[in-house]
Amino acid sequence: MEGPLSEVPGTGGRLRGSRCADCAVAVYPADPACPRCGGPAEPVVLSATGTLWTWTVQRYAPKSPPYVPPAAGFAPFTVGYVELPEGVRVLARLDIRPEDAEIGMPVTLTAGDGVPRATGAAV
Ligand SMILES: [Zn+2]
Repeated sequence: MEGPLSEVPGTGGRLRGSRCADCAVAVYPADPACPRCGGPAEPVVLSATGTLWTWTVQRYAPKSPPYVPPAAGFAPFTVGYVELPEGVRVLARLDIRPEDAEIGMPVTLTAGDGVPRATGAAV
């Protein structure tokens, strides 16, 4: 799922998706064809901030590969979908503690080490 399009030098760690030239629907990861109408899509650098759409706690190690457990072993982490102004919902690992996570909260999204990461953003 992740590939060279996930992070592009010069985008400041922002995610690169695509936008349909015909119907303007935006997607992440980038797709050369629009999933809605099949039209041609152009690469687009997505917004760095959005809102937390939903979230949960990953309490067991995901399938490996592709998951690479940290050297210290698996530890539960928060994960969720971040909704961007383009209308795209991006699955991201959250650098937010469960007690601090709240649906609708502003978050900053960056292309992480293979997986997008989100942190709480100042309002
Ligand atoms: Zn389209």
